[in-house]
Amino acid sequence: MAAETYHYLFGPVSSRRLGRSLGVDIVPMKTCTQNCLYCQLGRDAELTLERKVYVPTEAVLDEVQRRIGEGLQADYITFSGSGETTLHSELGAMLDGVKALTDIPTAVITNGTLLFRPDVRRDCAKADVVMPSLDAGDEATFQRLNKPHPDLDFQTFVEGLRQFRDEYAGHIWLEVFFCAGINTDDDNIRNIGRLVETIRPDKIQLNTAVRPTTDAGAVLVPLAHLQEIARKLHPKAEIIADFGRHTAVPSRQIRESDIIDIIGRHPCSLEDICKGLSADPDQIRPLIESLLRAGNITAETRNGKDYFKTA
Ligand code: SF4
Repeated sequence: MAAETYHYLFGPVSSRRLGRSLGVDIVPMKTCTQNCLYCQLGRDAELTLERKVYVPTEAVLDEVQRRIGEGLQADYITFSGSGETTLHSELGAMLDGVKALTDIPTAVITNGTLLFRPDVRRDCAKADVVMPSLDAGDEATFQRLNKPHPDLDFQTFVEGLRQFRDEYAGHIWLEVFFCAGINTDDDNIRNIGRLVETIRPDKIQLNTAVRPTTDAGAVLVPLAHLQEIARKLHPKAEIIADFGRHTAVPSRQIRESDIIDIIGRHPCSLEDICKGLSADPDQIRPLIESLLRAGNITAETRNGKDYFKTA
């Protein structure tokens, strides 16, 4: 029987934060409330604050149901992908729909900028884990690093995060993305630390630009420096940036389409692909070479490592 194809699902991929995670992508490519310097989805965001039905909810839930019927093994079903998930006005209905289909916990990855809206907080509260971002300690850094929609401001954004914490009993895992020379100064670290105290996330996860980004301004913070930042920032801060740790478990027949599926979301190294597909590098290398030869993917070197993306 031909393999099922999915428009809104990807993976499951092995994720550092979520284990085996089935991705659900519910907004068109790079439709977002921000245009972050470190974004891996391309330079120009379709900047919007408009909540609407970007993709049909029923079609998304049909796919999730089909995928479960195929024997889905996943630790989380995660709403994430090509832009800002909370822009979809039926996110809450989708989370309800997934809950009705399976006991697999749900997660929402969001930049958090719309949490000032009660309807967005209500929707996100239906997830088991919500993973917002906070990369700046002040308005100027927020503008420089996250390049938000002109109608967004830093105070309202932070207040939304606090309000969500007050209302939500589930897990909040806050990601802080550091770019060298932009938010790595002591003032930003101190201010982010103070804000974190008021937002009270369950986890504080530090990341940096280990993968290629479209803007050269997003520069990687070396591991030793990130460790120092973690110490200064908060006792609970942990580093999730992947500086090359590798946990492959050879498992199944991998196809070129599996690789395209993973790197279509963001540029990936050989290690990322191996981890995402729980595969051995020896399985993946020939497929990458074949895709490169066919011109289906391209390679770019960053910090001494090759990253692959769709052509
Ligand atoms: S919030 Fe995410 S999708 Fe939006 S621009 Fe920033 S990194 Fe890209």
